[in-house]
Amino acid sequence: MQQITCLNCPLRCSIDVEYDESAIYSIERNNCERGYRFAIDLLDLPNRNMFGYVKVENSTSKSVKVITTKPIPRDLIPVVEEMLSKITLNAPVEVQDLVIKNVLDTGVDIVAASQAL
Ligand code: SF4
Repeated sequence: MQQITCLNCPLRCSIDVEYDESAIYSIERNNCERGYRFAIDLLDLPNRNMFGYVKVENSTSKSVKVITTKPIPRDLIPVVEEMLSKITLNAPVEVQDLVIKNVLDTGVDIVAASQAL
């Protein structure tokens, strides 16, 4: 049994996962489906979904949440975080607005997951 911390929201749930090299046998104490997916992505594949925040201009919101449309290789996440830190969007921003297309040639897009009006 190993404990992992879900990073998908500020609750940071501790999730119990039982697994070996061939399979995941149980996932417990995740408070929601996103936590379940987080554990699968983290342990079963060298890929995972990521989220971050991007600055916004001309809005009462200072930033919007952004997410990958599919998991990306974990090694690329620090590079993508650096890219996101250099982007400023112009309001209005709607959920699902494209932020980065085909990030680092992964075939995965980064889209807005929150609104800035
Ligand atoms: S399991 Fe769900 S509630 Fe818990 S940190 Fe992850 S996303 Fe948040």
